[in-house]
Amino acid sequence: MNHVFCVEDVVAAEILDSRGSPTVACELRLTDGSIGFMQVPSGASTGQYEAVEVRDGDKQRFWGKGTRQVVWNIEAYIKPRLINQTFASLAELDAYLCTLDGTAQKANLGANALLAVSGAFARAAAQACKQPLYHLLHHKACELPVPMMNVINGGRHADNDLAIQEFMIVPHGVSTFSEAVHAGAEITRYLGEILQKRYGHAGRGDEGGFAPSIRDPKEALDAIMQAISQSSYSCDQVGIALDLAASEYANEHGYFTDKSGVECLNSTDWIAHIQALVAHYPIVSLEDIASDTDHETWARFTASMRGRVQIVGDDVFVTQSERLQAGIAAGIGNAILLKPNQVGTLNETITTTQQAKQHGYATVMSHRSGETEDAMIADLAVGLSCQQIKTGPLRQSDRVAKYNRLLWIEKTLGREASYASHVYQRYRIKQTEEVAVC
Ligand code: PGA
Ligand code: ZN
Repeated sequence: MNHVFCVEDVVAAEILDSRGSPTVACELRLTDGSIGFMQVPSGASTGQYEAVEVRDGDKQRFWGKGTRQVVWNIEAYIKPRLINQTFASLAELDAYLCTLDGTAQKANLGANALLAVSGAFARAAAQACKQPLYHLLHHKACELPVPMMNVINGGRHADNDLAIQEFMIVPHGVSTFSEAVHAGAEITRYLGEILQKRYGHAGRGDEGGFAPSIRDPKEALDAIMQAISQSSYSCDQVGIALDLAASEYANEHGYFTDKSGVECLNSTDWIAHIQALVAHYPIVSLEDIASDTDHETWARFTASMRGRVQIVGDDVFVTQSERLQAGIAAGIGNAILLKPNQVGTLNETITTTQQAKQHGYATVMSHRSGETEDAMIADLAVGLSCQQIKTGPLRQSDRVAKYNRLLWIEKTLGREASYASHVYQRYRIKQTEEVAVC
């Protein structure tokens, strides 16, 4: 950015997310007339180390989840301190926002307040530079990310017995992003038919994926395998990713294999349980395989896989640089999930992304389970060359908006657009060598 950006006005409002819960939106105007708008997402299986999401706490209104305080924080506290101030970059603005808050976890103003302003400023700055946001952020050639599409929901996101939160299809072995979308759409349709026939209903979870009455994860994986085999794509082209979100069903004895809480595996058996899944299905990526405090299981599992599969840290890193640094030192995982509202500003998200790359960790830009139609993470995924994005199934406008934005970016880039289909090649054993079914 070779510009100087002078803030003229900031407006915020309480709006709703995809669960019908309040969140916050912000519009920021620069003195040159450029305007940026951002709507902030919200999680459900939130990590305990995430930056603070400020809520009103008034149980008489939106079950305590109102965001009038956040709106006040933006309009009455942040805005007067930004008006007529000039910033040379997003980094400068975000550093100032962090200073205004004054706490590491954004406990005073809220990560939701800071991200709303940060995102609105980034978009206004992009408009001032007459560039799309991804272009403003990118350093190297633009690459379209491989999408992880969450087709079966469990855990906190669904009213079924599956403990594993997300069963995702990953069309990595195709040549373009639009073909990945086609593969995903085809497999999702077949999967819906299979689940409907088998369980009498397919159900729907928070992110819009199916949520059938399944207890055993193998049953969910088998249904996905069948859907892939019915499609015009193979398991070499479409892999599977899981977000085990293990913090949600861990206790001092170990990990529950389903929500009934009957079977609880200790660390060693839990590792064997996950390894068995990797041995039998074309799994390319595993997220949150242990709780955010169980670093021992994290490190043992990571070492046991010897780099042959992607192991993503979400709750354990919470997009925060210091936690990632500690995790790298402890041998935890080989990839990071990036959620801007876990840390609070876009610039901090960018810093963590760069840090991950410097240490050879793969990067996955991610939505939250409570989303809006805001598709900023699509621009972030391309602009920061994350190579992977996790943004739900190809259903519901709050998820589809991100796919549509990526399709548009692909179209705009034309011949310059490349697809990150090589992203899993870094894992030593080819997934297909491990696959028993398919
Ligand atoms: P959340 O779920 O947005 O509810 O935290 C997403 C995830 O765990 O990756
Ligand atoms: Zn997760």
